[in-house]
Amino acid sequence: MENRPAVFLDRDGVINPMIYYADHGFADSPFPLKQFSILPRVPQAIRLLNDLGFAVVVVSNQPGIAKGHFEESLLRETEAKTQDALKEAGAHIDAFYYCIHHPQAIKRELRKRCACRKPGANLLRQAARGMKLSLPNSYMIGDGLTDMEAGHRAGCKTVFVGRWKYEHFQFMRSESSKPDFVASDLWHAARLIAEQNRTRKLISVPPPRSTTRNAPIVNRAQRAAS
Ligand SMILES: [Mg+2]
Ligand SMILES: [Zn+2]
Repeated sequence: MENRPAVFLDRDGVINPMIYYADHGFADSPFPLKQFSILPRVPQAIRLLNDLGFAVVVVSNQPGIAKGHFEESLLRETEAKTQDALKEAGAHIDAFYYCIHHPQAIKRELRKRCACRKPGANLLRQAARGMKLSLPNSYMIGDGLTDMEAGHRAGCKTVFVGRWKYEHFQFMRSESSKPDFVASDLWHAARLIAEQNRTRKLISVPPPRSTTRNAPIVNRAQRAAS
């Protein structure tokens, strides 16, 4: 059987809004679970990608554990909250892959320069190996230049989403950080991908059984063991 194409999704800023922490003066991943919410039209966008037959895979740098901001269990809780929100639209995410390392981690076991931290492409390559995905037929969607670089390094097409796109362009360091496409949000990105894959037969993919409410989410998240 031919390897399946995937749409890789960055998490923060694509699926959920970033949170501005006024005390610290920066925007970051939401720490408490109650601050984690889903951006408008994300469930519909993911449903469309599911129906087009793409594997939908989150690939996310989450250095918050390494920095001591939250525990790994928060990742499981945010996955469950995401899948619950998607389920109402008949949508689901197939897998979550995280880089939980950071070069300046306060937790020694997570302090390293790894190849899975985007702009590295290893999260995408791990997913491709583990899930039998075709990288040249896949897309990487993100709101950061590192997402574009990671996508290109893995041989995928890239879609940049976000409102600050024009400011971003002047910071583009290299050819590889230039997106192939630009969209205002995940819904526009999904429509763009649908447009390019018009010849694909629409299929309706039943969500995996493990996504039932309150059941543990099966995930292939990368562990600190590496
Ligand atoms: Mg992001
Ligand atoms: Zn890593």
